[in-house]
Amino acid sequence: MEGKRSGDHPQGQRFGVEKVYDVLGIGFGPSNLAVAAAIVEEASEPDGALTSLFLERKPSYAWHPGMLIEGAQVQLSFLKDLVTLRNPQSRFSFLCYLKSKGRLDKFANLRNFYPTRIEFNDYYCWVAQQLSSQVRYGRQVESVTPAATEGGRVELLRVRARDGEGGAEEYLCRNLIVATGGVPALPRGVELPAIDGVFHSHQFLDRVKTLYPDPCGTYRFVVVGSGQSAAEIFQYLMTNYPEAQVTAALRRFAYKPADDSDFVNEIFFPQMVTFLYGLPETRRRSILREHNDTNYSAVDLDLIKAIYQALYERLIVDDRRVTVQPFLELREVRQAPSGVVAEFWSTAHERPELLEADGVVLATGYVREKRHPLLRELDPYLVPDGGSGYKVTRDYRLETRSGFAPQVFLQGFCEDTHGLSDTLLSILPVRSFEILQALLDNRARTEERASANLSLAGPA
Ligand SMILES: Cc1cc2nc3c(=O)[nH]c(=O)nc-3n(C[C@H](O)[C@H](O)[C@H](O)COP(=O)(O)OP(=O)(O)OC[C@H]3O[C@@H](n4cnc5c(N)ncnc54)[C@H](O)[C@@H]3O)c2cc1C
Repeated sequence: MEGKRSGDHPQGQRFGVEKVYDVLGIGFGPSNLAVAAAIVEEASEPDGALTSLFLERKPSYAWHPGMLIEGAQVQLSFLKDLVTLRNPQSRFSFLCYLKSKGRLDKFANLRNFYPTRIEFNDYYCWVAQQLSSQVRYGRQVESVTPAATEGGRVELLRVRARDGEGGAEEYLCRNLIVATGGVPALPRGVELPAIDGVFHSHQFLDRVKTLYPDPCGTYRFVVVGSGQSAAEIFQYLMTNYPEAQVTAALRRFAYKPADDSDFVNEIFFPQMVTFLYGLPETRRRSILREHNDTNYSAVDLDLIKAIYQALYERLIVDDRRVTVQPFLELREVRQAPSGVVAEFWSTAHERPELLEADGVVLATGYVREKRHPLLRELDPYLVPDGGSGYKVTRDYRLETRSGFAPQVFLQGFCEDTHGLSDTLLSILPVRSFEILQALLDNRARTEERASANLSLAGPA
């Protein structure tokens, strides 16, 4: 194996005996999958190939598996797959996937730009399968540290990971791409108690199927949140548990539609990244704020309509077990003799509101720390941005101090500087190509420098 187990080599052994990857990626979600595809297609000529490896903590490829709800659609055109914006002739396109699965004609006959998430996950798995030599699953990366140094100059990075059995592994690389996605977020001040009946939306399908196995059960569910995942979960519960009492607890007045209208949607165009990146910070922030409802705490309008219709039909038969309750801010969730109690603060009535439940689903989003925890030990080499993060170049590279050779790229952590597409799927093909280009340019510069040094040294 190429990554070595800690302790395989005695302390202080030279780096020359270990394999050094040109590129090491942490996480193998869609962002790094797009990079892996770009490397194979754009930088794999035998002599100039970039050696790459991606480490993923999941045991196999899966895209938000806890939310692969039947019928839920992706919220972007299938043309915005992993590759088409970079190369419409790529063998890793969604259309090639359909062709290879024998469904191209039937898909075309759907006359629909928005595949289900289940199908898009299957497409991602199909691409990942073809790139399997570039990835190692079941690897949880735990730290990144400066490795080889020459005269005080950092040349390489050492990445430490644990495998599925808890064994430690180490990898060396010249460049790093961090694409670890978001971390489940809870409302401010709320802690997730270690109770079975309380869980975040990323675990939804797993938990709901295990803990509430009876479709005719008279379970009591509370869904906290007002975004797309919350609305999908609310609809799932009322549809799949017709006898259940289901309460949607919203901090705001109502589910609000995501603005995906034609002009507004251009905010996700690749060229918007260059435009936004070039703006003064205050101007950029105000544009991002103005367009927040394209993604955050916003729900697909068709889903809102479907939920409203379903609630109305229940009213006709005087069934009031499913309700949407506005202006509720979650304060605490705790175990109670009869299940779980979710304590809210009603901002409308300015008083506490208690909801008893058998299951509380926290569809409360994700956070992405500006200073990535895995990069903590590189902090002395990274340039702060004057706020709570690091300076990032247009090509997603962290600015580093002199004497630090490795390039560290971020995917999904640059929304403040690169715009709203950063945490989404919209520009993956273009972003992966920009990162690849930066890697290749840097290698060319390094090689040029090395050959200039050789010629200066003259014949031996
Ligand atoms: C339910 C849901 C639906 C969505 N639908 C859409 C949509 O329709 N359109 C859209 O544009 N966006 C959508 N999004 C936004 C979402 O962020 C993107 O879909 C996409 O997943 C981002 O890809 P990523 O690779 O950056 O992050 P992720 O998909 O989160 O992948 C990160 C990967 O890194 C791995 N990882 C994390 N830490 C480590 C570690 N220490 N070591 C090793 N591996 C690690 C994780 O296991 C994960 O596989 C959706 C998000 C959710 C939650």
